Amino acid sequence: MSKESKIFLGEKDMPGQWYNVTADMPNKPLPPLHPGTKQPIGPEDLAPLFPMELIKQEVSSERYIDIPEEVQDIYKIWRPTPLHRAYKLEKYLDSPCKIYYKNESVSPAGSHKPNTAVAQAYYNYKEGVRKMTTETGAGQWGSALAFATQHFGIDLKVFMVKISYEQKPYRKSMMNVWNADVIPSPSNLTDSGKQILAGDPDSPGSLGIAISEAVETAAKDPDAKYSLGSVLNHVLLHQTIIGLEAQKQMEMAGDYPDIVMACFGGGSNFAGISFPFLGDNFRDGKNTRVVAIEPASCPKLTRGQFQYDFGDTIGLTPLLPMFTLGHNFVPAKIHAGGLRYHGAGSIVSQLLRDDLIEAQSVRQLESFEAGLAFAKTEGIIPAPETSHVIAGVIREVNKAKEEGTKKTILFNFSGHGIIDLAAYDKYFAGELQDHEVTNEEIAKSIGELEKLV
Ligand SMILES: *Cc1c(COP(=O)(O)O)cnc(C)c1O
Repeated sequence: MSKESKIFLGEKDMPGQWYNVTADMPNKPLPPLHPGTKQPIGPEDLAPLFPMELIKQEVSSERYIDIPEEVQDIYKIWRPTPLHRAYKLEKYLDSPCKIYYKNESVSPAGSHKPNTAVAQAYYNYKEGVRKMTTETGAGQWGSALAFATQHFGIDLKVFMVKISYEQKPYRKSMMNVWNADVIPSPSNLTDSGKQILAGDPDSPGSLGIAISEAVETAAKDPDAKYSLGSVLNHVLLHQTIIGLEAQKQMEMAGDYPDIVMACFGGGSNFAGISFPFLGDNFRDGKNTRVVAIEPASCPKLTRGQFQYDFGDTIGLTPLLPMFTLGHNFVPAKIHAGGLRYHGAGSIVSQLLRDDLIEAQSVRQLESFEAGLAFAKTEGIIPAPETSHVIAGVIREVNKAKEEGTKKTILFNFSGHGIIDLAAYDKYFAGELQDHEVTNEEIAKSIGELEKLV
């Protein structure tokens, strides 16, 4: 058994296919519905927004899908990513558990997001698309897609949630370095943005609103396509390279995880690390626990309701079957912008319904304490999103101590927090608070969904 603290995979051993968990799920996710007819949508309904290859992946039930050579070639700028054994965190926690983490912070954008950004930019490029639109919360997705689109000579317009635009100016700078045009959302450039501003001129924005603006802009321009950084099946698919690499690396370490964990915004990094291990559960009778960690201020998995809802605030997307807080839910301004989304992807939602995965919520202050413990031991400063899963890992370690058990935990280190240092400053200044939504707030925004389906 290896005593190394980092396990590297050679470029030649990088997986050449993504894994599609729907091939092995006992119950398949429900189909997206057309909001007008309430019938399942067909490929032609999505064609104005996405290239055909991504639409095919969205509905595919093939177990493995080839990663194009051109995509692999760009992945190799930073992939395969290292798997670390967190010896120093284990020591600090006096942990009976082994803790491994997959380090996705080594990508050019600093997170897992380029795994799908590069694939999406490539398929758009192949189908002749030279203009794309998207939204971004904390700026992680926008910077990942900007990195990817400029590689293929595609122009990118990014609607950035206004509160993050103000809190995270350097994410905007990164997008500008990679040629993207960045607009604070809600904006006056779209009908969606104008509608929100009419109701609340000081709206901090939300991912749902920014999605409406980006979708509207792409839908109105026949030459432009839209791209989403989480939630959708094809996005989750592209992220599975994380877990596929981790499986090989855990094998090299002579270990196999009892628990696989990730933080949860729309589900992409969670799916990325966990779906290949869930495949082992489904096909080989393994019993790995798979746990998603979401913020207490935006608790769609632990307190949301499973039902058809829009992916955006205005209601421009198809209706998706998901655990949701309602598309009008505007989460508190926590410093984990990437987790401030009202719903979960339809695959993850089905898995949760079937009790095949678990979810827990963590409050903001607990997440910062955990992030600092990690930074002080393992050295890398986590993104505020990533700190949520670290808090979840610490809970599991404490539980194992109480129970007198020893587990092997694998978690996804989704990104670094070097561009989020302002949030750490606020934490040190005592300016951050815990936000927990009330039952009334949730009941109100979910109640508004009754007439949808
Ligand atoms: C975007 C982001 C997340 C949350 O998005 P998911 O789609 O749920 O993975 C988590 N961590 C980081 C660093 C992010 O940038």
